[in-house]
Amino acid sequence: MTSDALFQSILEDTRALLQRDRNPRKNTIALLPETAALLEGPILDQPGKAPTDTPATSTPPRPADMSGPATVVEPDLGGAIDALRLEVSGCTKCGLCKTRKQTVFGVGNLNADLVFVGEAPGADEDRLGEPFVGKAGQLLTDIIEKGMLLTRNDVYICNVLKCRPPDNRDPQPDEVAQCEPYLIRQLELIRPRVICALGRHAAQTLLKTTESTGKLRGTWHNYHNIPLRVTYHPAYLLRKPEDKRKTWDDVKQIMKVLRGEESPAI
Ligand code: SF4
Repeated sequence: MTSDALFQSILEDTRALLQRDRNPRKNTIALLPETAALLEGPILDQPGKAPTDTPATSTPPRPADMSGPATVVEPDLGGAIDALRLEVSGCTKCGLCKTRKQTVFGVGNLNADLVFVGEAPGADEDRLGEPFVGKAGQLLTDIIEKGMLLTRNDVYICNVLKCRPPDNRDPQPDEVAQCEPYLIRQLELIRPRVICALGRHAAQTLLKTTESTGKLRGTWHNYHNIPLRVTYHPAYLLRKPEDKRKTWDDVKQIMKVLRGEESPAI
């Protein structure tokens, strides 16, 4: 195949990929480094184009007939998340590093439209290194699978704190202050269409408020231009199952936005 034909073929494949995955609230897609390199070479090696040492995050030219928002290629979202995960795994910024078995970074789809943010790992999560794997985690899985008709692999799940507070006590303000930058970076990288804050600590951290979950739920909030919904933490719902109905109401509102049926004014 000539280099011109190869270039056209890559453009056609890329156009199909972008049109398939086009999402009005996202301006990035994840590509394997090899794919990004393949794209970068033919595009940037064209006469008059930028030199080939241009960083892989540069924006490739758009096909002339492609409508819709410009798409910036994020060549290694997975690499950026892995680097952050590695940084967190060695973190000693607060005292929880002394009592944790391991850090609990986050799990799920890096291109997720929906991110759940909880409070902190519990004993099961500390042991297994994955968020929401105990009884509360099973309830969250039920909410995702039975309520939303999604799978855990469709969403991303993480916590405000990446290390377990001893005896599952509440996170302390200094611990939240030290750990929150990791959460902010996670959300910046994943940039979901909707965030669901599970419980008071997640909601108060993300929204910088002292209001209760009861006062914060039932409406849309704005987290750096991402619609955010507050609902009850699954651990609370295990203690107060009568409030599951309210969480179901929250889930329905989230699904309307994810399905494009509603666009919250935030
Ligand atoms: S809770 Fe966060 S800030 Fe504290 S040691 Fe763990 S990762 Fe670091």
